[in-house]
Amino acid sequence: MAARRRPSRAPSPAVRDSGRSRRASAPGRRHRAAAACSRRARAVPPSPGAASRRNFPSARPGPARPGPQRAGRWRARPRRPLAVPDEPRRRSAMGFAGDGGVCALWRRAEGPEERRLLELFSYGLIAMGAGSALLLCFIPMPYGRYSSRRFGWLLPARPAWALQELPSLLVPLGLAACGGAVAAARPNRVLLGCFLLHYAHRALIFPLLIREGKPTPFFTFVLALLFCVFNGYLQGRSLTTYATYPPGWLGDPRLITGFLGWLIGMAINIHSDHILRNLRKPGETGYKIPRGGMFEYVSGANFFGEILEWFGFALACCTIESLAFALCTLFILGSRARQHHKWYLEKFEDYPKDRKIVIPFLY
Ligand code: NDP
Repeated sequence: MAARRRPSRAPSPAVRDSGRSRRASAPGRRHRAAAACSRRARAVPPSPGAASRRNFPSARPGPARPGPQRAGRWRARPRRPLAVPDEPRRRSAMGFAGDGGVCALWRRAEGPEERRLLELFSYGLIAMGAGSALLLCFIPMPYGRYSSRRFGWLLPARPAWALQELPSLLVPLGLAACGGAVAAARPNRVLLGCFLLHYAHRALIFPLLIREGKPTPFFTFVLALLFCVFNGYLQGRSLTTYATYPPGWLGDPRLITGFLGWLIGMAINIHSDHILRNLRKPGETGYKIPRGGMFEYVSGANFFGEILEWFGFALACCTIESLAFALCTLFILGSRARQHHKWYLEKFEDYPKDRKIVIPFLY
C-alpha cells in the first residue's frame, strides 16, 4: 500500500514483487522470484516438535537474526536451521527418512502422547533401578564371578555380551536414520553420537577383548537384552524426536561439563576394564587383586567410570530420559561394586582396607 502512495520511492524486494510490473527485465524477474521464495520459506509453520519444548522453557526462538534482506544484501542462500528444524528439513534428516515402512510408523507415533510415555518410562526406569538395588542386597547379580546354572543355560561370555548390548546401538541408529523432529539439530547429533560411541565399544569391541570370562546365564542375558532394547528406544527417541536445545547449547557450560564428565568416565571405564583383563594370563580363570588407576581408590573402578559417564551425559542432555538412565546405572553398578568389594574382602586377606566401594573418598 505504501508503495502505491509513494511510487517514486525505490521499493524493497518484497514490495517490488507485489508490484507486478510488466516492464521488468529478466534479471529483475529472477530477483522477485527469489524474494517471493524467501517469504514462503518464512511462512512454513513450525513442526509438531516445536510444541514440545519442555526441557528448556527458555528455549523460545529468540529475536529473528537480521536476515540477508534486512541487512540490505540479498543472497539466495537457505537460512540456517534453528534448534527445531522445520518440516521439510525433518523429513530429509540424515538422508534416510523414507515416507513408508517403519519410519512412517515412528512418525505417526510422534506426539504429546509418546512424549508423556517416554516420561513415564523414565520414572519406571528409576523405579526399576531402585527395586533392583534392593533385590541385589540379598542376591548377587548372576553373571561373571556369581554366574550360576540356577538362572538358566550358560551362554559363552563373548557372544552373550555382543548380542545383549547390540540393541543399544542399533535401535537409536535406526531411529536416527528415520530422522525424528530434532534428529538433524547439531546438539542432538553430538549427544546421540556419545551414546552410540559407548555402545559401539560395548557391543563390538569389549566382547572381543574378554579373557576367559565366566559364562552368562540365559536369564541374565534376556534381562540385559530387554534393558538395551528399552533404553536404546528411550535415549534414541528422546534425542531424535523430543529434546530441543536453545541456540548455542554446544557452548553451554552444562553441555561442556557434562561432555567432559562423559569423556573422562568412558576413559576410566575402558582403562579399568583393561586392568582387570590383564590380571589373567592366557588360560587363567581365577581372580587377583586389581591395582593401579582408579582401583587404588575404589573396588569398582570400571563401574565408577561408567556411572560418571552417564551422569555427565545426563548433564549434557538435560532430559529426564538421560537422568533416569544415569540413576539406574548408579543403582545397578553401585550394587555390583558393593558385592565385589565384599567378595574381595572375604577372599583376600591382604586386600587394601582403605579402598572405597565405588565413589572415591566417599563410598
Ligand atoms: P566385572 O568387573 O565383574 O568383570 C569385568 C571382566 O574382568 C570380566 O571378564 C571378569 O572376569 C574380569 N575380572 C573382574 N575382576 C577380576 C579380577 N579380580 N581378576 C581377574 N579378572 C577379573 O564387570 P562386569 O562384567 O560386571 O561389567 C563389564 C563392563 O560392563 C563394565 O565396564 C561395566 O561398567 C559394564 N556394565 C554396564 C552396565 C550398565 O548398566 N550400564 C551393567 C553391567 C555392566 P569374569 O567374567 O570371569 O568374572
